[in-house]
Amino acid sequence: MSNKQSRIIAIDGPSGSGKSSVSKRVGAALGFLHVDSGALYRIMTWQCLKLLGDTSNPEEIEAVSRKVQVDFAAKDGAVIYLVDGEEPGNVLRTPEINRHASAVATVKAVRDRVTAWLREMTRFGDLIVEGRDITTAVFPETPARFYLEASAEARAERRRKEEVEKGIANQSAEEVKASLLARDKIDSSRKYAPLKKADGVTVIDSTYLTLDQVVQTVMDALPAEWKR
Ligand code: C5P
Repeated sequence: MSNKQSRIIAIDGPSGSGKSSVSKRVGAALGFLHVDSGALYRIMTWQCLKLLGDTSNPEEIEAVSRKVQVDFAAKDGAVIYLVDGEEPGNVLRTPEINRHASAVATVKAVRDRVTAWLREMTRFGDLIVEGRDITTAVFPETPARFYLEASAEARAERRRKEEVEKGIANQSAEEVKASLLARDKIDSSRKYAPLKKADGVTVIDSTYLTLDQVVQTVMDALPAEWKR
């Protein structure tokens, strides 16, 4: 499918607002590939920590961001990322990466590179892309734009549950909440492409909604001709 024909569903929101679960479900229902943009910022962060040991110097981060090589493929309803031929998996989900990812994501060269990767993914066809700046900076023109939110308590609880399910939980509920709020703060206040509710997005507060209800709300708001 050519770039021109790709349809994009863009979903932004803070950590734990339910973007991943909703995107996977809606993507599967419509045949749109799921794209997790946060994982690309996590790959950048992982490489910075590996090569630099920390993330305090934006110039060094910029240099690393130009070198990082990622290959893309469509697999099982999603666009997957390969670094040195392998999917990084849970190494991207550690508390250390959580702590450093937002700082790395403030660097313009990092954002430009990830944005270019995301736009190139339209070569795979229709996409449902989740992140922090998809509705505002990466695909601001798409008619299907959503902002998911939920209370900090609900978001922390979801993140913790996810970590337990993945077998990587080693933090208390309070620690998870603190880490999530710290990232939200940096993500919403940074200079380039901060997380914000763009004009015209459909805002969904998922605090008291089930996953099915959020999925239905997204489906209902899509252009009629996108639903088969
Ligand atoms: O979504 P996830 O929590 O995996 O994202 C990790 C970090 O990547 C976020 O805290 C944010 O700093 C950054 N990010 C971003 N823009 C996106 C997606 C993620 O800045 N579109």
